Amino acid sequence: MSTVHTSKPVMKGGGSLTLESLPADTFIPEDFSEEQKMMMDMCHQFLHAEVYPHLDRIDQLEPGLMPKLMEKAGEMGLLGISIPESYGGLGKDFMSAIIVAEGLGAGHSFSVGQSAHTCIGTLPILYFGTDAQKEKYMPKLASGEWKGSYGLTEPNSGSDALSAKSTAKLSDDGKHYILNGQKCWITNGGFADVYTVFAKIDGQHFTAFILERGMEGFTQGPEEHKMGIKGSSTVQLYFQDCKVPVENVLGEIGKGHVIAFNILNIGRLKLCAATLGGAKECLKRTIEYAKTREQFKKPIYEFGAIQQKLAEMTIRNWVTEAGLYRASMWIQQKEEELLAAGKPVNEALLAAAEEYAIECAMIKVFGSELLDYVVDESLQVHGGNGFSDEYNVSRAYRDSRINRIYEGTNEINRLLTVDMVLKRAMKGRLDLMGPAMAVQKELMSIPDFGSTDDTPFAEERKAIQQFKKAILMVAGAAVQKLMMKLESEQEILMGIADMAIETFHAESALLRAMKLVEQKGEANCGYELDIARTYLYDAADRINKSGKDAINAFASGDEQRMMLLGLKRFTKVAPFNTKDARRRVAARL
Ligand SMILES: Cc1cc2nc3c(=O)[nH]c(=O)nc-3n(C[C@H](O)[C@H](O)[C@H](O)COP(=O)(O)OP(=O)(O)OC[C@H]3O[C@@H](n4cnc5c(N)ncnc54)[C@H](O)[C@@H]3O)c2cc1C
Repeated sequence: MSTVHTSKPVMKGGGSLTLESLPADTFIPEDFSEEQKMMMDMCHQFLHAEVYPHLDRIDQLEPGLMPKLMEKAGEMGLLGISIPESYGGLGKDFMSAIIVAEGLGAGHSFSVGQSAHTCIGTLPILYFGTDAQKEKYMPKLASGEWKGSYGLTEPNSGSDALSAKSTAKLSDDGKHYILNGQKCWITNGGFADVYTVFAKIDGQHFTAFILERGMEGFTQGPEEHKMGIKGSSTVQLYFQDCKVPVENVLGEIGKGHVIAFNILNIGRLKLCAATLGGAKECLKRTIEYAKTREQFKKPIYEFGAIQQKLAEMTIRNWVTEAGLYRASMWIQQKEEELLAAGKPVNEALLAAAEEYAIECAMIKVFGSELLDYVVDESLQVHGGNGFSDEYNVSRAYRDSRINRIYEGTNEINRLLTVDMVLKRAMKGRLDLMGPAMAVQKELMSIPDFGSTDDTPFAEERKAIQQFKKAILMVAGAAVQKLMMKLESEQEILMGIADMAIETFHAESALLRAMKLVEQKGEANCGYELDIARTYLYDAADRINKSGKDAINAFASGDEQRMMLLGLKRFTKVAPFNTKDARRRVAARL
């Protein structure tokens, strides 16, 4: 059942870097159907009833507790959202899976275990498994009777996952692969029943295998002692002449990277959803605290310094939501388009997620940095109490940090963002050359200071289009100037990625506000417009700073001067009183 209703055609992956979107082309949380709202509520109820009362016991890794909680989630259908009904799941659409990821995101270590199970622990088999493999594993993974895990990382291959050393060799009788090697940092590893692991057949062909607990030669190490998500099981896996039946090869031999990278796209989007869920819950508790904690004879909530923090956290949560659901809608629409064109179900979502791999990477970075920002500022609002384990915010602070490391570190995701854009442009998949040349021409011309556009939000829409020109100008010049050397100028690539990430989110926020204005009228959208305008105003400065640093790193003389002037023009926004806007946002909390 499609739950997304917007105009077609679907925006191409990376297309929003140059093209303007309409409010009607975006999906916003305010568009949730009754069923989707119920799903979100059900997740929150689950956390309140089953997880929050046991957080300390979970963090102490009480034997059997996490598996039992996962089974309870399975009974409620929360583990089988994306699994077809024929395999015991609920067979819901992609948007529903994102909603559940957000809904359960605030569950600390439980969320990590649940998310690893439903995403990297289940999806490889669902999307790449044979019918026999799916029949064997899916119903038990959907119900939670079996727990899933995923072993890619090794002690000497993290970001460079394909340099893994684990090997597989066909046995003399041709019935088994014999695996040798080691994996590390494996979530759910201590109690999982089913593991997707990667090894190189004959030391060369990177391939995925399904392993089961108890297979001969397959053992797990002790639990790691971590700084956060202490209740999430994290262990090493060891393969010592481990006998894996040949029918447990997952996907094609030598194509393990296809599984590893495709699952990561979906994982990155879901990670953003989970961090958003965590950030919203953390902010909610912080607002409650600020309203009850009194200093100087009044609630600290009344101080401007505190209101500024609460408002900024609210703004960033709202903006993250806007970007997440906008990109999720694109993926779902693309999936529907591919299904309608006859693509098999298991290929349609993967191809749709691959189309938006750029957005998945940007959103992962944004969500994980949002949560770090929110837990840090929330702890500050809690003062000394925030530093105490009596308040949950200290746990949130510790638990948040991992999100910038797994599902591809944020450095890798930033580099990937620009790498994918440039590769797609070179292959003709994305038209960057035309718009980049138009920007170059504009740079040489006399600026047009008068605006005749009197359509709604003309000024804000123009600002977003100007930000895009700034990206095209910097990226285009960097490519021209540095060519093959650009790959090793990572600081410049990271700066361009930041410009793109800021612009994508500023536009998503503006579109969300504009859509709400269309629905409710401008007079009823003061709060939403304050949020979108504050974000846009601040984003302009951040884009300017990233752009400036990049330009100064590769340009000099007249070229540098011209580009810096262009950047100033492209990131110019009208003065805006963000202090008052944040005060108004805080007043609504
Ligand atoms: C709690 C936890 C749970 C995890 N769960 C799982 C799991 O279930 N399954 C699994 O397979 N893995 C898991 N991981 C592993 C995780 O995915 C890796 O830690 C991550 O990919 C980073 O790899 P690494 O730790 O080896 O860091 P490294 O790759 O060594 O990176 C170290 C630093 O160098 C940077 N860096 C690396 N390469 C480059 C480059 N080319 N350019 C610029 N900078 C670079 C990184 O961004 C980082 O800042 C987990 C990790 C943790 C800590």
